[in-house]
Amino acid sequence: MALPHVLVFPLPLQGPVNCMLKLAELLCLHQEIHVTFLNTEHIQQRLLNCTDVQIRFEKYPNFKFVTVPDGLPEDNPRIGDQIRKIIEGIEEVSSPLFREMVIAACGPTCLIVDGIFTFAVDIAKEARIPLLYFDTISPCSLWTYLAVPKLIEAGEIPFKGNDLDALVNSVPGMEGVLRRRDLPSFCRAPDLDSPIIQHVIKEGKHIVQAQGVIFNTFEGLEGPILSQFRAMIPNIYAIGPLHIQIKSKLANSQCLPKTTMSNSLWKEDMSCMDWLDKHPQKSVLFVSIGSLATMSKAHFLEFWYGLVNSMTPFLWVQRPGSIIGLEEDNINNVPKELSESTKERGCIVSWAPQEEVLAHSSIGGFLTHSGWNSTLESIVEGVPMICWPYFVDQHVNSRYVGEVWKLGLDMKDICDRATVERMVRQVMEVNKIKFLERAKQMSDLAIASVAESGSSYQDLDRLIEDIRLMRI
Ligand code: UDP
Repeated sequence: MALPHVLVFPLPLQGPVNCMLKLAELLCLHQEIHVTFLNTEHIQQRLLNCTDVQIRFEKYPNFKFVTVPDGLPEDNPRIGDQIRKIIEGIEEVSSPLFREMVIAACGPTCLIVDGIFTFAVDIAKEARIPLLYFDTISPCSLWTYLAVPKLIEAGEIPFKGNDLDALVNSVPGMEGVLRRRDLPSFCRAPDLDSPIIQHVIKEGKHIVQAQGVIFNTFEGLEGPILSQFRAMIPNIYAIGPLHIQIKSKLANSQCLPKTTMSNSLWKEDMSCMDWLDKHPQKSVLFVSIGSLATMSKAHFLEFWYGLVNSMTPFLWVQRPGSIIGLEEDNINNVPKELSESTKERGCIVSWAPQEEVLAHSSIGGFLTHSGWNSTLESIVEGVPMICWPYFVDQHVNSRYVGEVWKLGLDMKDICDRATVERMVRQVMEVNKIKFLERAKQMSDLAIASVAESGSSYQDLDRLIEDIRLMRI
């Protein structure tokens, strides 16, 4: 029987690449599993420019990177509003090359690919090898994606009227929790022709054809939703939070040299760590909208005033290109009261070592766009959140953070300076102890899930065993 050889193919974006590299490294620790990691040329170049990923993976003789073009022009910014083009590029240009690799003699024995790559089902069938989908978004949001046909059938989308606070009834297990405004952002489209809605419906039909689905989550957080999934897809592996699963495995394997864990596509500005060192425990708010979200200049100024008026020290990631219209304007051209107050109690960087920042003792809150990786990283460190979701899954995540897990506040759809100030004061002053206690409880559950005999630890063991034995 051939040695197990897994071909890993992430969606070429920061979050999925970061997650899948962590999974790849976990698989590589089992020396008899070979791993080929398929990156687009664009992502690979950025990883090489910004991280020590090459050196980090050189220590695994059973690992190799392979690259394919992504079909986009070099100057495409590959940010949030380009997501459709990114998927089209992969389908048209990268997927035929992926197919050749899969069906080649001595090709892989198992595929682990992003859940959005519907083309992988036919390719896996043709090559007669097992396919595992890895959905790097949260199960709670994927569950709402899979409910889109039900929402259409029940006439709940497209919305009738403008009331975004009306409750939604056709997502099983989420009755009484979800309002229209909490559904994935594409549900706000005025008609059903939107390509993303059509793709989500297609994804739902394909995901059930895989031999299993991997999630970056843990039972203590999403147990009820995972049970719903198991009724539809029996083979679920909930192996998260991956970033602490890998840290704990590396800490236990003495033979491996310690290196950084960064998979950042931007250069991390480490100077903010010195700035954090100067602040008391739990006093600083971290602000970041991740790798894809953007904001208008008007929103940007409202955020800035809200932060400054809250009087809370803040560390703010202003990713290059994330504030629409700012380049032409000049960042220094902001009102003097903002720049003066920021000098007193703010620190602005273009990209931060986020996992380390959230783990720093001075961080007391996170104003986030509710991307799934950011949410998990915050949960692990016991940091309460203020959520300002931008698109797709983030609207569901932020609802769960605010309403179900009670780990912070969901600011969704509002962005005026008074609301920002009020919510920052709520999380950092008025209800600080309550939120910190609740966040600590969830953090303890996260850490327990990757400890020996924890649910995520066991699911990872089962995944590895299945990869060794799996044949279709
Ligand atoms: N991130 C980082 N530094 C930053 C901002 C973000 O390292 O300054 C990382 C963050 O730790 C997370 C990822 O980028 O792992 C963002 O993924 P997420 O799913 O939260 O959001 P997305 O960028 O996909 O919208």
